[in-house]
Amino acid sequence: MSRGTDVQPAPPAVPFAMVRGATRRFATLDGHVDALVDVDLDVAAGELTVVAGPSGSGKSTLLSILAGLERGDRGEVTVGSLRVDRLSTRARRTWRRTEIGVVMPRPSDNLTVVHDAAGNLVWSDVLRGARPPMSVDDARRRLDELGLGEVGARSIPQLSGGEQMRLAFACAAVGDPPLVVADEPTASLDSESGHVLLTVIRRLTASGTAVVVASHDPELVDAADVVVRLDDGRRIS
Ligand code: ADP
Ligand code: MG
Repeated sequence: MSRGTDVQPAPPAVPFAMVRGATRRFATLDGHVDALVDVDLDVAAGELTVVAGPSGSGKSTLLSILAGLERGDRGEVTVGSLRVDRLSTRARRTWRRTEIGVVMPRPSDNLTVVHDAAGNLVWSDVLRGARPPMSVDDARRRLDELGLGEVGARSIPQLSGGEQMRLAFACAAVGDPPLVVADEPTASLDSESGHVLLTVIRRLTASGTAVVVASHDPELVDAADVVVRLDDGRRIS
């Protein structure tokens, strides 16, 4: 029998990365602090997810757990089909280096002064394990694509904080990882640099990369596809 005009709603898209019930308590001198309490997070491919909330609300802890930098006391972390929370510390480190991109808050912490800007991209590919790694010409082309063509031949100390952070995202995106995680990338930048950084982030999401950023920068929050708000270790929206 025909079902006539019955239309079934499309099933919700399966998120690319999922955190379920993430819980983390830190011991302190006078007791403990609950940095995260039973927090869930869904991350979709090609979207910018911003984890927002005041200082101390648990943003960095959540991102560290998602990126496998730390392990929660409880909770599941799935990225692609991998249960990251079940990996050893060593396996998580290898996974992070080869499979995803991580951007630390201080621009210079993401880069090496041993190489110029294009060389940092090549070096990122070496760390990924690419044999052979991309050529300097390929690195220059990649910088062009990300609107960073002008910085290719410069040394790292010759770059502004904003340029360093854009380069850090370019390095994190080497090898086209499906997930890039960045903690407070605009914290040390002026608003114009933050604005330009957003265009680099947008090029990554347009290529299908899931970008997860911890930030209370209103411009990043406004630009997000999804905003997850934390307060006192709890997800409030
Ligand atoms: P945010 O990134 O939103 O500022 P964090 O995730 O860094 O928040 O921290 C959440 C809470 O956990 C804060 O109260 C912070 O002081 C505490 N915390 C984070 N890391 C540690 C640690 N290694 N030892 C003790 N307390 C910590
Ligand atoms: Mg933080």
